Amino acid sequence: MLELLFLGTGASVPSRDKATSCIAVRSGSDIILMDCGEGSQRQIMISPFSFMKISTILITHLHGDHVFGLPGLLQTMSLSGRKYPVTVYGPKGIKECVDAFMKATEGETVYPLEVIEVSGGEDIENGNTIISVYPTEHNIPSVGYVVREKDRPGKLNRQKALELGIKDGPDMARLKNGETVNGVSPEQVVGKPIRGASISYTGDTVKSQSVIDASKDVTVLIHECTYMSSDAELAKEHWHSTALQAAETARECNAMNLLLTHVSNRYADISKVEAEARKVMPNSFAVSDMQLFDVNTDGMTLRQ
Ligand SMILES: [Zn+2]
Ligand SMILES: [Zn+2]
Repeated sequence: MLELLFLGTGASVPSRDKATSCIAVRSGSDIILMDCGEGSQRQIMISPFSFMKISTILITHLHGDHVFGLPGLLQTMSLSGRKYPVTVYGPKGIKECVDAFMKATEGETVYPLEVIEVSGGEDIENGNTIISVYPTEHNIPSVGYVVREKDRPGKLNRQKALELGIKDGPDMARLKNGETVNGVSPEQVVGKPIRGASISYTGDTVKSQSVIDASKDVTVLIHECTYMSSDAELAKEHWHSTALQAAETARECNAMNLLLTHVSNRYADISKVEAEARKVMPNSFAVSDMQLFDVNTDGMTLRQ
């Protein structure tokens, strides 16, 4: 199971109700942060998640509403005596950005900090998850990410294994983990691998085929939705998407659920944004700050 926490769901600037872009994904005790807009560390501190458990930070692009929280968070981790490494991934320019933040504020970290530039196509091993990077289309270099739980071994038919002469204990475990034991192969007694839950996050983008290709069959697609269709021209001009375009993308990639974020403050009533998307994609929800979802292979539930 993945836990998905929305820390900031606003677009461009913070408002009374919404912080700027920041999303946390927890797998076990490990936390992956996706974007880190201004005020993100304060949002984390008032959430049930611990900022000290963040191992990986995925930045979609270098607009301020997605990165201005980064120097503060990295510095607070240092002041809190963190020892474990942190890795920051982002598009071209992220290294220069973090270096400049650190240099200007003399904010050297006491823990190992690695910053890696990505452009799409990379698969990153990350504990229980695999993170796939894909290109998106915004007015500066930008990427999106799919966080996918690794598949788990299928269910073992213990009775059948016993009948084939396998004893309970280590042999049974080896068989379940894919080894052939005493001539009995896993295919004979172990079911299909259990697919893990998956979350795709676009960051800012126009409707893009690369989002559809990378997000095939995901449990949750988090798509930016800065505008409604009534402002489609503005969306195009500023390299953003409408609710309808986000919903079409979700349908075309066969996502199980669509979560709409980065909604412009001009739409006070986000239920209208949600309604536009639901015409095409019934499982669409416009998210608010501090909403926490459990994401399982077979679906998603709002916990708070
Ligand atoms: Zn933005
Ligand atoms: Zn942007």
